[in-house]
Amino acid sequence: MAESRRVCVTGAGGYVASWLVKLLLSKGFIVHGTVRDPDDPKNTHLRKLDNAENLHLFKADLLDYESLSAAIAGCEGVFHVACPVPVQDFADPEVEMIPPAVDGTLNVLKACSKGVRRIVLVSSLAAVGWNLSWPLDKVVDEDCWSDKEFCKNAGFWYAFSKTVSEEKAVDYSKSNGLDLVTLCPSLVIGPLLQPTINASIEQFIEFLKGNRISLMAHDVLFLVDVRDVADALLLVYEKSEAGGRYICHSYSMKMTDFCDKLKNLYPNFPYPNCTNEEKPLRLISSEKLMRLGWKQIPLEDSIQDTVQDFLNKNILNVN
Ligand code: NAP
Repeated sequence: MAESRRVCVTGAGGYVASWLVKLLLSKGFIVHGTVRDPDDPKNTHLRKLDNAENLHLFKADLLDYESLSAAIAGCEGVFHVACPVPVQDFADPEVEMIPPAVDGTLNVLKACSKGVRRIVLVSSLAAVGWNLSWPLDKVVDEDCWSDKEFCKNAGFWYAFSKTVSEEKAVDYSKSNGLDLVTLCPSLVIGPLLQPTINASIEQFIEFLKGNRISLMAHDVLFLVDVRDVADALLLVYEKSEAGGRYICHSYSMKMTDFCDKLKNLYPNFPYPNCTNEEKPLRLISSEKLMRLGWKQIPLEDSIQDTVQDFLNKNILNVN
């Protein structure tokens, strides 16, 4: 019998990674999942997944090369998902966010030098869209990169860290003959597998509780479902023709339209006031990913599955 395929997923207990681990286990992969603390109760959900006997947890920090190297040894592929994604602003983002994002990614790549067939890096739409020189009426595609100086000056440290880490990862892989594919998801929604609340879901929850959220400053929302992100990660890993960068985005809408949609489905939540400035809605294309065969869950299903999950878990605490 052929031996099962073995892959590593960094940050296995996180929101996106948990869905990816679940998908990989369901497809018969043996998964090496890195977590910072295997005994932390926030990772117990991983041990309850179907086929969890094929999941091996490794204690690893992105700034500790040896720990990553031990987790990646023997794997044919690596999904580098881990990255600090702040729920609240970091006190010192240049220390707390940039080194794990940038040096951590380089540590992962360095550890992939022996026998790893392909590395899939989770970047972000934040590494794509903050580019003021991209014409407003031109569809945003994979050629668009966020302007690092702009991000830095605006204090968009997360966008800065994702742009620098993706850029450095691409350069390092080219110089060292690694097969790297990067995926840039927009804001991820969908049900949670993990018991903790991650940053994108925190925004959704706060919105349903009636609080103004930082995303509202931009008037527009770019969303994708977490289950579609997991599918996309496996797709770009498996398809031999996949290469380069992929935008992973499904639904663009004005904040008011998002609010109206939610009010239609759930009239009783105390929504914050949403008004639109007449800003044009940028067109963002996931055509490259769709050409590989990527499919998307309809927006209504995604919203309903997310809110239903909050209600089932009683995490909204509103009447
Ligand atoms: P998440 O739930 O907060 O997961 C982040 C993971 O990174 C956690 O497992 C965390 O481990 C790990 N991590 C952070 N710093 C680390 C370090 N120094 N060493 C080892 N592990 C570390 O966030 P997520 O939403 O799933 O995000 C996953 C990936 O998707 C990230 O690369 C993010 O940039 C990208 N992304 C997310 C969104 C979104 O809307 N959610 C959109 C676009 C891209 P601990 O549990 O130990 O803290």
